Amino acid sequence: NPAEDNNTCAGRAVCAAHGTALSRGNGANMKTVVITGGSRGIGAAAVRLFAGRGARGWVLYEKNHEAARAVARETGAQALCCDVADEAAVQRAFDTIGSADILVNNAGVCHYGLISQITPAEWRRLFAVNVDGIYNCVRAVLPQMLQKQSGAIVNVSSMWGQVGASCEAAYSATKGAVLALTKALAQELGPSGIRVNAVAPGVIRTDMCASVAPEVMEELRQQTPTGTLGTPEDAAQAIAYLADAPFVTGQVLAVNGGFVIT
Ligand code: NAP
Repeated sequence: NPAEDNNTCAGRAVCAAHGTALSRGNGANMKTVVITGGSRGIGAAAVRLFAGRGARGWVLYEKNHEAARAVARETGAQALCCDVADEAAVQRAFDTIGSADILVNNAGVCHYGLISQITPAEWRRLFAVNVDGIYNCVRAVLPQMLQKQSGAIVNVSSMWGQVGASCEAAYSATKGAVLALTKALAQELGPSGIRVNAVAPGVIRTDMCASVAPEVMEELRQQTPTGTLGTPEDAAQAIAYLADAPFVTGQVLAVNGGFVIT
């Protein structure tokens, strides 16, 4: 069973990040948002942003219990330990969550190396998390969204899914698949009142980039037209926009400082 952390927060009406009182809706019109990979990085920034807007949050994460608990405590979200690649675990998590208005498929893993070096197991794991994980979560959330004839799904791809990156062939392939899946689902689910969009972040300072050498990060910054690298909050803002844009579906919103302009 997904290990449920009981993170009911006494201070739900106060945004811990900003220390300001928030005008929250009453329980009936509060939106429920599920964010996979919400324990760290972009996902955690999105959890904070949605919480600040009065949403009821659910954080799905794989193994970093401490980080997930900290985000949950801070935002009043509920944290569920659940490997998105595990179809049965995902179904159990969504049985616990019940109905969701917004699903953010953000959980992801990367791999750096030559195509000849990545092992079949590593290749399959990347697809299992980055692509099958979205399939599992969409399938689990869909019955409720179809019943309500409403919902928003935001998938987190990458600029490498748009243009490909040398030494990141598997990662690029998974993120390209996320874009195609997003566009197909937008067409399939639009008539049912469900919108599906994607964000394609550029280089965002998170744990995912921790192993990239500082001089490489500096080179990437210099190659970026804005002269900056992205923050998790930059990506979270784009996610929140797409979650709440009634006439936008099937789109890819690039958050990359102009590094890739398609
Ligand atoms: P991160 O800091 O490494 O955080 C990854 C998150 O995903 C963590 O919450 C982790 O949970 C969760 N996760 C990983 N595998 C999982 C699994 N099998 N089941 C459930 N949760 C899982 O990464 P990030 O940089 O925020 O990236 C978030 C998304 O943005 C990813 O899809 C990534 O590919 C994409 N992206 C990132 C960048 C960038 O430069 N950072 C650029 C483009 C796209 P635990 O804490 O439990 O490990």
